[in-house]
Amino acid sequence: MKARLQVMKFGGTSVGDASCIARTAQIVAQAARENGCVAVVSAMSGVTNRLVEAAKNAQAGNNGGAAAVVDALRGQHEAALTSLIQREEERARIRQKMEDVLAEGRRLCEGTALLRELTPRTLDAISSLGERLSAPLVAAAVRELGVPSESIEATELIVTDAFHGGAEPQMKLTREKSQARLRPLLEKGFVPVVTGFIGASKDGQLTTLGRGGSDYSATILGAAMDADEVIIWTDVDGVLTADPRLVPEARTIPVISYREAAELAYFGAKVLHPKTLNPVVQAAIPVWIRNSFAPQRPGTKITPEGRSIGGGVKALTAIRDVTLISVGGPGIVGLPDVVGRTFSTTAEVRANVLLISQSSSQNDICFIVSTADTQRTVEALRKEFAQDLAYQTVEHITVDSNIAIVAVVGENMRGIPGIAGRTFNALGRENVNIIAIAQGSSECNISFVIEEKAVKTALLATHREFGLNSSAN
Ligand code: ASP
Ligand code: MG
Repeated sequence: MKARLQVMKFGGTSVGDASCIARTAQIVAQAARENGCVAVVSAMSGVTNRLVEAAKNAQAGNNGGAAAVVDALRGQHEAALTSLIQREEERARIRQKMEDVLAEGRRLCEGTALLRELTPRTLDAISSLGERLSAPLVAAAVRELGVPSESIEATELIVTDAFHGGAEPQMKLTREKSQARLRPLLEKGFVPVVTGFIGASKDGQLTTLGRGGSDYSATILGAAMDADEVIIWTDVDGVLTADPRLVPEARTIPVISYREAAELAYFGAKVLHPKTLNPVVQAAIPVWIRNSFAPQRPGTKITPEGRSIGGGVKALTAIRDVTLISVGGPGIVGLPDVVGRTFSTTAEVRANVLLISQSSSQNDICFIVSTADTQRTVEALRKEFAQDLAYQTVEHITVDSNIAIVAVVGENMRGIPGIAGRTFNALGRENVNIIAIAQGSSECNISFVIEEKAVKTALLATHREFGLNSSAN
């Protein structure tokens, strides 16, 4: 068996059509000639969204709409199959696999339409179809290049809890199953092509790891297989210092730490699913982000300690789809339980709180949630504080969605004084008004809340202030 093992994940755009799949297969085949290689693939881009839509159609009783989506998927995958695979018997074999998956999809939609009920379990089953269609195509494309390959459904490998729509892996069982199933293939020189995004509970029910979860699948398998590295192949050059659409001089960061990458992922930089790094931290397996459309570029390497040079700041990120909720009024001064009640309420409705800030006068507790969570959070708060609002001990619960969070991230900011000062001076010079500020005690990021329309100015000013466009960072 080859000495090194790489787990490579290809996202939706990297398998978006026949030519992308061909490019992906080249990368896999080349890697497999040098190393052991496990590929993990997403659904073709846009497919999962359409499957979720089909499920919603079915739930509304519109089975016709759902069936139309399934038919369109057949067309799309058939077109890729025809252009990728030369021999008709081979095509027929893959087509049969795809037809089985599509037939299952149709039955799931019919059942849903009949009952007009979409359980989280059924939604998982329907949304998983995209990966189950793409993996056989990619494996076939790899075989076309003369490298033996087999597609495998991750329900055979990844064991999770039963939390549908966001399942968590059980690593010990996952390791046992993955080793037992994949080792023999690797020993024979095969490339297993595994469906991303999905797993199965102990009793065999299909689960999903949450939207965008294929990254997570790759690191779960990387850890389970004791891989030497995990490579996330995507459509950007790596982790950038800022969003290049807003900051044209943004550049790729060559080396970044787990902490920094996780912080960026958490604060909305779209390159990684936020849980991606959890499985590999313990074994310190490096994770690369690379561009499958430009494989000659080196990408970003994510390592336990990153690289400790530069002025402390590594990257900037902004989250826009967020809303500031504020609970307060003079009457809350001295009310001991307002903070507690506020956040037990957000926890009850499972709102993801991204930032909290309380002024020392205690007049206001401000916090930020995703805009999608706002309505249910505010309703729950109004209920919780109904009495207090009536007696005006709590004067207001207000909502502002024209805001954004900007986070300045860098592990080496710790202990370097003046970063906050420089940030806010730079913003002041550009007249950016700061609504709230938070710094975690980890000192891995400083985040601040500004008006949404000031995001670009704020990013440009801070990017320049910390010289992020120069390669010294
Ligand atoms: N196909 C899934 C999604 O779109 C998983 C992934 O792409 O990572 O959410
Ligand atoms: Mg994706």
